[in-house]
Amino acid sequence: LSPPEVIAAALPIVTRLREHRFEAVFVGGAVRDTVLGLPVKDVDIATSALPEQVLALFERCIPTGLQHGTVTVVHNKIAYEVTTYREEARYEAHRKPESVRYIASLEGDLLRRDFTMNAMALSADGELIDPYGGLHDLRLGLLRCVGDPNARFAEDALRMLRAVRFIGAYGLKPAYRTWRALLRHGHLMKFIAMERVASELDKLIAGASPARGLHYAAASRLLEHLKEPLPAEVTLAAAEACRTRSTAALFAGLGKLKEADLRLASVAIGLSLTSDAALRSMQALRLSNQRTKSIMGLLGIHLDLQEAEPDPEEHSLRPAWLGIVLRYGVRMAGQWLEIAELLQRTTPARCIVPAAQLEAWMNEMPVATLKQLKVSGKELAEHLRKPTGPWISDWLSRLLLEAALGRVPNDKQPLLRQAELWDKKEESND
Ligand code: ATP
Ligand code: MG
Repeated sequence: LSPPEVIAAALPIVTRLREHRFEAVFVGGAVRDTVLGLPVKDVDIATSALPEQVLALFERCIPTGLQHGTVTVVHNKIAYEVTTYREEARYEAHRKPESVRYIASLEGDLLRRDFTMNAMALSADGELIDPYGGLHDLRLGLLRCVGDPNARFAEDALRMLRAVRFIGAYGLKPAYRTWRALLRHGHLMKFIAMERVASELDKLIAGASPARGLHYAAASRLLEHLKEPLPAEVTLAAAEACRTRSTAALFAGLGKLKEADLRLASVAIGLSLTSDAALRSMQALRLSNQRTKSIMGLLGIHLDLQEAEPDPEEHSLRPAWLGIVLRYGVRMAGQWLEIAELLQRTTPARCIVPAAQLEAWMNEMPVATLKQLKVSGKELAEHLRKPTGPWISDWLSRLLLEAALGRVPNDKQPLLRQAELWDKKEESND
């Protein structure tokens, strides 16, 4: 096997270790992705050298996880994790090994790894070391635990979520016994920190085609057993969604969206979540305030537009849409248009107005922010001879909408005249 450049770049580290009579090989995701001809991300090295021996051999290193045998070696400004061959003993609370023991054999080190495709090593000479049949499984398109799947999932419950993610990302099927064991041990998910769950789900959703991972996540029912439960309607909707052709089509299109938050918002829309259910899910998953705000905004735009009424004069949703744009801001509305396009292509029933129409309306707006409006709250109050108060921001928003709709020119006098008309109308109503 001829290693890709990223691996070749790390060869000097392996060579150095071998010159000192230690064993050293490439392991993990880098080997798997090399075998599959996919781009390689981070390159990990396993060695028979003890952490102190690694530290002594390289100038630039960081003792990242000494208790687990990991030293980060920096070479040409790239950080590589160099980990001593080890086995793990007595897992604590279905997640962390209580202790690790350094061992002399690579085969033993590969044995502790989660899946056969992640338990292959690549030597400096390009030889694949694959004692557990990872290559064979990849050729069959199977994700298989190393060893007894029941024991492996019981040791570390996070592996079940990793399984679902890998099945999705690599278009695999789970091996029969692996899947059976996963279904049986789903209840152990409650031992996994919500942050870890969120980070796996993030990776799942970030992949080139997340639909498969989502499908298996729903089928696995892992998300029904989290430490901090998601609202029941979310898990129910997820199970339902995978059986619905239109939602499956929406999920199949997720890869077109670049940003993770756009994808998550689309999933929420696909699952027909209420904003309350979406919010509680994000809080349970400990999403940052910023991400929560952005996803809730995108979902809010969708829900507001679903509920919007056509304008009685224009007989169109243009005024309602522009109101939404002003409320959520042009930037977020623009992001939502990407979702609108996806909905239009995959689930037309969820899309009332073509995305291109919404975009055209938005682009034609002469003003988009209060800052651009040619009248201030102070001028408004003076002109109408009214005391300042909360009514001002309300009226400014109304004026902004009129100006954005092109019904009133964005100039001081016409805007003040419009406000006067409203004022008179209100007085005669009183
Ligand atoms: P990715 O492309 O997501 O980085 P990866 O396989 O490289 O995938 P890492 O989390 O970087 O995943 O871990 C590197 C390697 O460490 C894995 O390939 C696997 O051999 C081993 N490993 C990681 N997590 C576990 C786990 N929870 N249980 C057993 N082995 C694991
Ligand atoms: Mg990795």
